[in-house]
Amino acid sequence: MTDTVLDRLLRYVVIDTQSDASSSAQPSTEKQKDLGRVLVGELLGMGLSDAHMDEHGNVYATVPSNSAKTVPVICFCSHMDTAPDFTGTGVKPNLVTNYQGGDIPLTGDPSRVIRMSEHPELHNQIGHDIVTTDGTTLLGADDKAGIAEIMTAAQILIENPDIRHGAVKLLFTTDEEIGRGADKVDLAKLGAAFGYTLDGSTIGEIEDETFSADGVEIEITGVAQHPGTSKGVMENAIKIAADIIARLPKEMAPETTEGRQGFIHPTGVTGSMDKARLSFIIRDFDNDELTQMEALLQQITEEVLAAYPGSSMRFTVTEQYRNMKEVLDRHPEIMDNLMEAVRRVGLEPVSHSIRGGTDGSRLSFMGLPCPNIYTGGHSYHSPLEWISRQDMEKSVETIVELVKVWEERAGEAR
Ligand SMILES: [Zn+2]
Repeated sequence: MTDTVLDRLLRYVVIDTQSDASSSAQPSTEKQKDLGRVLVGELLGMGLSDAHMDEHGNVYATVPSNSAKTVPVICFCSHMDTAPDFTGTGVKPNLVTNYQGGDIPLTGDPSRVIRMSEHPELHNQIGHDIVTTDGTTLLGADDKAGIAEIMTAAQILIENPDIRHGAVKLLFTTDEEIGRGADKVDLAKLGAAFGYTLDGSTIGEIEDETFSADGVEIEITGVAQHPGTSKGVMENAIKIAADIIARLPKEMAPETTEGRQGFIHPTGVTGSMDKARLSFIIRDFDNDELTQMEALLQQITEEVLAAYPGSSMRFTVTEQYRNMKEVLDRHPEIMDNLMEAVRRVGLEPVSHSIRGGTDGSRLSFMGLPCPNIYTGGHSYHSPLEWISRQDMEKSVETIVELVKVWEERAGEAR
């Protein structure tokens, strides 16, 4: 067993860890624990004696401090599950060594080709060793690249006691892809002051902003009547629901927005004559804008209902997660130290906003401020997923530099 970051990635991706939103258990699939057990074994093998997996499949371990200073405890976090969007069973990784440009055909499915024209990041990969799938599964670099990078960085810290660092906590979660990654994390047990998820993409890109996210449910009660004798009486809940959908502002939809624009997005509709139910997700980077979009949706619903005097509706907003920037701005050293580490590995840090959420957005509001760092992976959740060894090595270097920066900038000796 060898332990380069590439070896680790190749070892972890063949373990099927797909999560399943239809299960209410955590982990949603028991097979996620297969990877958890491997990781715990490897961590114990490295000498991290507190490494363990809890009943929810979350893996915890500590690289003890070797500094005389009081250094904030930092956590690095990645998720073990892969997305339900594409199968993760029977992953056969393929290694393209010393890539010289051009399209990369996938050997198991001739219809699948990673084209340079569609993957412009390939232009920065000349001479790199690129891992792909055979085209029949996703790769699962999201987020096993993050795991491989954290594991490799931990090993470097253990093997190089001259690198001074505070206590470093490792956390590997389950069910991130179905939005539950942070649900069962025991932050008191973890005992970290700040965290970083390794769950990003292109090297150099760091993410300190996510959407703020709410769900809205609209339950409509219409007036049911025999269709033969319903003139002037029936109020069909299906038609009320359709009227609401038809009046959604077209410029506030996922398909018409980008960058920092938010949206109102219907995700589900069920209905019969007497009852209908509409499900929405509402997203924006700004909490006030989010609230305004919800008010607008409620106003549209009330206006539609005005034409149906016998019908009623219930409008319920549920908070899902909040933009982590609000929390991170209170602790500027988290991003300052990260930017410094990125520069030290020779990259120019680029701050990005995620049009989505991460474990980090939930963890930030649970009390563990937690921006996101690049792993080097691309085309996540698809059979065209790819990542290079050299980019993974940059991520490993970044983790190591980051713990050094925290130690250097920490207060005086205890
Ligand atoms: Zn991920």
